[in-house]
Amino acid sequence: MALDSDTRDQLIDTVRRFVAERLRPLEAQVAETDEVPGAIVAEMRELGLFGLSIPPEYGGLGLTMEEECLVAVELGRTSPAFRSTFGTNVGIGSQGLVMHGTPEQKAKWLPGIASGETITSFALTAPEAGSDSANVQTRARADGDAYVLDGQKIYITNADKAALFTVMARTDPGKAGAAGVSAFLVPRDLPGVSVGRPERKMGQQGAHVCTVTFDGVRVPAENRLGAEGEGFKVAMRVLDRGRLHISAVCVGVAERLIADCVAFAAERRQFGKPIADFQLVQGMIADSKTEAMAAKALTLETARRRDAGENVTLGGAAAKYFASEMVGRVADRAVQIHGGAGYIADYGIERFYRDVRLFRIYEGTSQIQQVVIARETMKAGG
Ligand SMILES: Cc1cc2nc3c(=O)[nH]c(=O)nc-3n(C[C@H](O)[C@H](O)[C@H](O)COP(=O)(O)OP(=O)(O)OC[C@H]3O[C@@H](n4cnc5c(N)ncnc54)[C@H](O)[C@@H]3O)c2cc1C
Repeated sequence: MALDSDTRDQLIDTVRRFVAERLRPLEAQVAETDEVPGAIVAEMRELGLFGLSIPPEYGGLGLTMEEECLVAVELGRTSPAFRSTFGTNVGIGSQGLVMHGTPEQKAKWLPGIASGETITSFALTAPEAGSDSANVQTRARADGDAYVLDGQKIYITNADKAALFTVMARTDPGKAGAAGVSAFLVPRDLPGVSVGRPERKMGQQGAHVCTVTFDGVRVPAENRLGAEGEGFKVAMRVLDRGRLHISAVCVGVAERLIADCVAFAAERRQFGKPIADFQLVQGMIADSKTEAMAAKALTLETARRRDAGENVTLGGAAAKYFASEMVGRVADRAVQIHGGAGYIADYGIERFYRDVRLFRIYEGTSQIQQVVIARETMKAGG
């Protein structure tokens, strides 16, 4: 159920202040140390950020998709690594459980996920299955009252801290593609689960991805999420939703960068006047603002449609495609408007330029969003 408008505005205001006062001052430190300070994680827990999307009966805030997107826009106004701290609990790490979990599974896991005590990860990508995510080769062999998991997942966000993985594995090797895949809730402490060291990456320092290996892991049959053979559908429903959240974050980052550009352009003087007076600079600001507004409108409209019960596979893919490409262009213009300063680390603009690159890759690359958009459009006849 939606929050009343006062409570919603209060929540958004609280998050905006938390971002401005607590997170923004730490951006450079987090980039340098590759770690979000524990005290900040504790404050995030206190604010309820780990449970934004978890139903209130399990201790979360139970936001609607539109409300979650409005909060995500605010969270986008700082380094994306901060959001990643609780991003998997809010999105891909919890939503399979929220949408397909049994009452027992939900009661067991969701309270810890909502409070942030339990960190969750979503483990779909594997060396052989990236964009072709239905080509899951991680094996789950039924054996008495358990499934035995063998295989490897790569680039798994928050795996170093996760206590619970949602893992997509093939239960029926006789069926190729999506049909033979099931989803499992796999606690990290089961024998045979091992997590590699965090990868070194282009940006978003402070957010970690690791390889997770399953070596003869006996997962109780009661940990299967949804019916056998339905795991790929679970994953796709989770991603449909996650794409809207990511779109909203892209909008927030774009709004942050536009504000930084406006402030810089007013202050920086060349040829005897602020560079904001030059219409070629204004053109870049206008392009960025227009695109950010368009992405926001598309994202929020699609979120409202989802809240109304509509299928948003097309809208979610379109929003993610447009918003992630948009923020790439906005970050590029931000470097340009800042001139040499845009390339120098101390100003933080080049860091955002690197950070936003990921949005076009994970939760489905831009090309995969295009494939989905075209497929859904042709299915609907236009
Ligand atoms: C930092 C980070 C965090 C991540 N977090 C997670 C996570 O938490 N959980 C998880 O499961 N995964 C995660 N991923 C994995 C991510 O979702 C995949 O990297 C992504 O889906 C692309 O898969 P791939 O890397 O195998 O690239 P590939 O699929 O090999 O793609 C390579 C190129 O080929 C293109 N391509 C592939 N197929 C087609 C096609 N049919 N048509 C047109 N072009 C195509 C792609 O668009 C891309 O340009 C993460 C990745 C990164 C980098």
